[in-house]
Amino acid sequence: MLIVSDGRAVVEADLAAGRLVCPRCRSGVLGGWGCSRVREVRTGSGVRRLRPRRGRCRARSCRATHVLLPDVCLSRRRYAAAVIGAALLSVGVEGYRRAGERLGVPGETVRDWRRRLGSRAELIAAHFLRWARALDGSLDPPAAQRSPAADAVEAIGVCTRAASLLFGRQSPWSWVSALTAGGLLEINTSTPWPVPE
Ligand SMILES: [Zn+2]
Repeated sequence: MLIVSDGRAVVEADLAAGRLVCPRCRSGVLGGWGCSRVREVRTGSGVRRLRPRRGRCRARSCRATHVLLPDVCLSRRRYAAAVIGAALLSVGVEGYRRAGERLGVPGETVRDWRRRLGSRAELIAAHFLRWARALDGSLDPPAAQRSPAADAVEAIGVCTRAASLLFGRQSPWSWVSALTAGGLLEINTSTPWPVPE
């Protein structure tokens, strides 16, 4: 699985130009390889049906195929990254039931997302601060927040603002998906998060 732009034309252009590097061997580039199955993603404005493109590594020794998942998604989550993000942003501001009602998500699901955030908050904060510094060398470290989870959310905010300034505006949670290989909430992620060069 590889997180790519939500714009199909951008993905096709990236495939054609050999700009998508295989996440398995990390040296081959991906060519187009049909489409993946249809999946439904719950967004803030209703259910969206996606049929992600698939890519296949051109390296003869690899030939791995990967689902090219649009960055509006997180891996293995039926809710859009922005919906999950909104639930995480309200940590310490409103309870999980209230956040769930506001977002149209079962409260228990919001609680699960928040627990996952809390259980790896230090990792998440360190990861996004590392990216923030790579994107903007003059960046001041953010002030400490009330909790590790709030520190993690603050680091995500600092990093995604720096990314939007540098690369052009896009939803912060699309950056989050791209910068965690879709695995922000995965505890035992088999795909390591991308690191700055
Ligand atoms: Zn490969």
